[in-house]
Amino acid sequence: MIKYYNINGQLVEKNQATVHVNDLGLIRGYGVFDYFLIESGQPLFIDDYVERFINSTNLMQLDLGLDQKSLKEKIFELIDANAVEDAGMRLVCTGGLSDDCYSPVEPSFMMMMYPVGGFSASKYIEGARLISVDYQRDFPEVKTTNYTMGIKVLKEVKKAGAVEVLYHDGSFVRESVRANIFIVTKDERIITPGNKILRGITRKQTTKVASKYFPLEEREVSVNELKEAKEVFITSSTKRIMPVVQIDDYQIGNGQPGAVTKKLGSLFRASVENYLQSTKVS
Ligand SMILES: *Cc1c(COP(=O)(O)O)cnc(C)c1O
Repeated sequence: MIKYYNINGQLVEKNQATVHVNDLGLIRGYGVFDYFLIESGQPLFIDDYVERFINSTNLMQLDLGLDQKSLKEKIFELIDANAVEDAGMRLVCTGGLSDDCYSPVEPSFMMMMYPVGGFSASKYIEGARLISVDYQRDFPEVKTTNYTMGIKVLKEVKKAGAVEVLYHDGSFVRESVRANIFIVTKDERIITPGNKILRGITRKQTTKVASKYFPLEEREVSVNELKEAKEVFITSSTKRIMPVVQIDDYQIGNGQPGAVTKKLGSLFRASVENYLQSTKVS
């Protein structure tokens, strides 16, 4: 059972974990976050997440006041306090409480943990759907807390039986609201957009394992290339590698998860196992 969160450096019971109503995260939407999984008590690929989170705070002029080493210590402290083996952790840094409700003074920093549900296997067996919308995230390279578009269209996403909304600019594909996207071409090249996106940690691991077996390109992917792809999949910390078989009214390939996506799924899992082995304290 998860009992503790950490608010501004203090461990507190989660039902007492509050911030002020005039926090800039709430009233101006000014904040960044990160989210990662913990397996067997180990935060997966933690150095990558810590680096990205601190980078997000720096890019948004938020002074977290922690370096990578001390942030990692805080993360392990919270994992130890809750003593759970498998969970998700969210780090959030906002503009904080502001006298004039506009100018940041001191950031707020929150660390939360959540139970993780099992994956719904059907999405991996049958493949997932996406719907698409013309949209570009502000500050694409920063994991900002702004999911306004994704949440606004959630009813349409659910109505279509989709898992996520995919962002494009009319010509080129970017990413989905909470995941990066990859295509597999008919001649089995793997391509993932490299511009105006959040650089996912799962994307990074995927490109690493994929490039050992397939030609891999990071570049603009046109909407046409997407429709004509043999396979499409999305990657995120929670979804890992999820096959996509339909986007709006377009069926991808033969409408079934493809062999390349499945192979990458097991290669990714192997890289997680490998990571867990390498971090085991003997
Ligand atoms: C979190 C996120 C991703 C996926 O990143 P991971 O590090 O793999 O979880 C992709 N795009 C956006 C907009 C995100 O917020």
